[in-house]
Amino acid sequence: MIALSQSLGEIKKIGPKTTEKLARIGINTARDLLWHFPFRYEDFSNISKIADLEPGAPATIHGEIADIKGYRTWVKKMFVVEAVIADDTGKIKAVWFNQRFLMGSLKKGMVLSLAGRVIADPKKGILMQHPIYEFSSQFSDGESRHTGRLVPIYSETSKLTSKTFRFLIKPILDSLEKIDEFLPKELLEEYNFPEINSALKNIHFPDTIEEAINAKRRFSLEDLFLLQLANLRAKLKLSKQKAYPIKTDKKYLKELISNLPFNLTDSQEKSLGEILSDIGRKWPMNRLLQGDVGSGKTIVAALAALMAAKNEKQAVFMAPTEILASQHYSVFKKFFPEFSNGVALLTSSNAKIFYGDGLETDFKKQDLVKKIFSGEVKVIVGTHSLISNSRSGQSISFKNLALVIIDEQHRFGVKQRAKLTGRKEKEGKILPHFFSMSATPIPRTLSITVFGDLELSIIDEVPKNRKPVITKAISPSNRDKAYAFIRGQVKKGRQIFVICPRIEKQELVEEGKIVTGRDITRLEMKNVKEEYEKLSKKVFPDLEVEMLHGKIKPKEKNEIMNKFSKGEIDVLVSTSVVEVGVDIPNATIMMVEGAERFGLAQLYQFRGRVGRGEHQSFCFLFSDAPGKNTRERLDSLMKAKSGFELAERDLEIRGPGEFLGESQTGMPDLAMTAVRNPELLKFSRDFAEEFLRKDPDLKNYPLLKNRLDLFERNVHLE
Ligand code: ADP
Ligand code: MG
Repeated sequence: MIALSQSLGEIKKIGPKTTEKLARIGINTARDLLWHFPFRYEDFSNISKIADLEPGAPATIHGEIADIKGYRTWVKKMFVVEAVIADDTGKIKAVWFNQRFLMGSLKKGMVLSLAGRVIADPKKGILMQHPIYEFSSQFSDGESRHTGRLVPIYSETSKLTSKTFRFLIKPILDSLEKIDEFLPKELLEEYNFPEINSALKNIHFPDTIEEAINAKRRFSLEDLFLLQLANLRAKLKLSKQKAYPIKTDKKYLKELISNLPFNLTDSQEKSLGEILSDIGRKWPMNRLLQGDVGSGKTIVAALAALMAAKNEKQAVFMAPTEILASQHYSVFKKFFPEFSNGVALLTSSNAKIFYGDGLETDFKKQDLVKKIFSGEVKVIVGTHSLISNSRSGQSISFKNLALVIIDEQHRFGVKQRAKLTGRKEKEGKILPHFFSMSATPIPRTLSITVFGDLELSIIDEVPKNRKPVITKAISPSNRDKAYAFIRGQVKKGRQIFVICPRIEKQELVEEGKIVTGRDITRLEMKNVKEEYEKLSKKVFPDLEVEMLHGKIKPKEKNEIMNKFSKGEIDVLVSTSVVEVGVDIPNATIMMVEGAERFGLAQLYQFRGRVGRGEHQSFCFLFSDAPGKNTRERLDSLMKAKSGFELAERDLEIRGPGEFLGESQTGMPDLAMTAVRNPELLKFSRDFAEEFLRKDPDLKNYPLLKNRLDLFERNVHLE
């Protein structure tokens, strides 16, 4: 009997070489191997007579090798193995390319089964290309693994073929000790899903395709159910912890809002309401505020922070870049000058406090940190500096931190967030309320999966005064026209962004190295420094042109952004550092060089930098490689009406793994499952809710509890 936990090295018939290859892809135990599921099946379930074969379909035949030869082709220098297979109705050729070793294993006179696709070759006639095979005498029980049935196809690495996986998995399945089912019976019965032992057999060696599908769905359900349980348990745990209630002072709120030069949109009001109501409770809020670029999330955040201050409690507002932190700080200064007494900015190059109406004082960092500790400062806006100060030995402590807001949350790691919010702390400690903001709209199925432990607020409209940004892909021959248009806009008082994929020209490849096509494209890629030279000296010598990129010191960066925001710069040539959040309502043209180098979401963010004021805005896309793919991608950017729509597209094109990026470790596979099975997701979510309500500690389900604990350790939830 083989146990799931048994390491593969201990199993007879699996040699050290194979064990090593498997270990390289993370397969070490019987469990790992059995959970390496096939991603599709070929249907070879009918054994055909050779005379009946028709091109186009997969088939299995049974016959004898009548002849076999190997030769090298003239043209592509490929090694071809060509065998003639005969049964009592006729003959057919089987052909393999670049598999010279077959000459050693296949010999004239052998009897075997072959399974593969039948094709009509223009020169050779009907043949089987790259069939898989097995010798008839190989199995004493007469049951075949590879042919004559639904054959599982595994994702192959260069050294481990599907055939190897089938060969390894079958005997393990046959002598596997019985696994205890940990999923509740009611759950499986609802959909008539197989219990674990038959599900495992059926996912690898199904008799019918329905069996395979059902088994696969059972495992998807397992993952989704565990994820939902984990999410709900995290919520439950949080609801038992303590937070300072931040009471809404309605009169104060009215006063704050009446000071704004605009009315809040309905969505802004709704989201603000959800936040204020949650932070008024005695346990911590955990929320995600999603809103399209330019939908006005910052104001909502600022209002919540000011409400905390009004309650004599502290609030932190953290942004991923210096530029953004300064910008958020300015929002307090600009919109709430009389109410922002004691709002601080703390970044690597800034430490200052705003004392209301024009009064602002610079401090030494350690002095500001002291004022935060004493509680004198109520609202603290900043960057990573707020949490990563441990390098200098001093980390920031608060007097009574009640609210943490994180902007563009995807730019922070899970750990960084946890550090500020203390979500990993033991019970009993007072934790801050928390909400993060994201301008990357995430389709609902995905956000339920990835952020399932968070409440969701959505701002799904932009302020009414906005006109949609006119987006155009510009061909190289129209470049001069675009420049002329830019000049016209500047004459009207507008400002322009020019985005390039690189900071500077890449150094020529080391001497003596062969220069490849790829190197050349890299050399030709537009870069900030050269574009800046060209635009400031040749194209717009009469305009104020500046450049901005990651190698410029934070302090200078801030100065440049400040100048741009005051309108003292006409054209800003920049890398993607202006990607997130930057808000310059007077900027009306976003010109993107090398547009094919950026992801859709990123391009969407760039475009979101313009169209934030009342003026008609434009986004011009230039591409060095206008291939079909690029055109399609840019096309969907031009057509998409909202970030959510684009996100759906992007998700389709790239899949959840790429879509989410690297920071969400452990999730993409699950996310993939969820996106493909919205119905199963909903079912498992409802079921998990009901289930936990009845048995919150899973007292009656010890096996499930064990499995869940393991799951929680492997998937990093917030
Ligand atoms: P984002 O949601 O992308 O972070 P911001 O908070 O930067 O957007 O807001 C974008 C711009 O819209 C800012 O200039 C802000 O002052 C302005 N704004 C916010 N709310 C409104 C509103 N209700 N009406 C008009 N303009 C608004
Ligand atoms: Mg923003």
